[in-house]
Amino acid sequence: MLIAIDGPAASGKGTLGKRIAGHLGLAHLDTGLLYRAVGAACLAIGKLDDEAASVAAAHALDVSTLDPETLRTGEIGEAASVVAARPEVRAALIDLQRRFAARPEGAVLDGRDIGTVICPDATVKLFVTATPEVRAERRYKELSARDPFASYEAVLADIHKRDARDSNRAAAPLLKADDAVLLDTSALGIEESFAAALAIVERARG
Ligand code: C5P
Repeated sequence: MLIAIDGPAASGKGTLGKRIAGHLGLAHLDTGLLYRAVGAACLAIGKLDDEAASVAAAHALDVSTLDPETLRTGEIGEAASVVAARPEVRAALIDLQRRFAARPEGAVLDGRDIGTVICPDATVKLFVTATPEVRAERRYKELSARDPFASYEAVLADIHKRDARDSNRAAAPLLKADDAVLLDTSALGIEESFAAALAIVERARG
């Protein structure tokens, strides 16, 4: 069973993907980490504006070294969204995602273009969203546990900026696939979101 989960920044798609995969005993790939790793590699050499450097970093990506802890910062998320707008960077990462998705037992992948570009034939597609304010509040709560200077306004501004860049780019923009089921988690807690997502998956499984 192949499950495609897409949605904007901080929509909770990653948490849902991980839980659904755990529940069904499937492997899970958070594809945002791939773009984050490419963005981080470019930041490290001071070449975020250099398209060729980002394409080279995408080709050189070693998935076994991806570290979610270090990659999930606001700065790297922003860098990821810059490199992710480049068609050649996206092209360099397609095979690896499709190979992951081709496991015989299936898999769960989450990102921005899984249902539209990477796995258009997925068994079930979910488009997970929530209002920008709710997403900012969730992200702010996570951040402020680690950083006493975190600001809700700054997080909200970052979310608006990333939404605009991810939705308006020409290459594989953030888009709900026609056959994806919309799950708005604005008014739902984690457990309720998980139950709702699982119900959609079970229904698709027949
Ligand atoms: O999901 P996450 O916030 O970790 O993704 C970081 C950035 O990577 C996104 O803002 C988006 O620009 C890019 N991305 C993408 N396509 C994906 C996954 C992430 O363009 N499938």
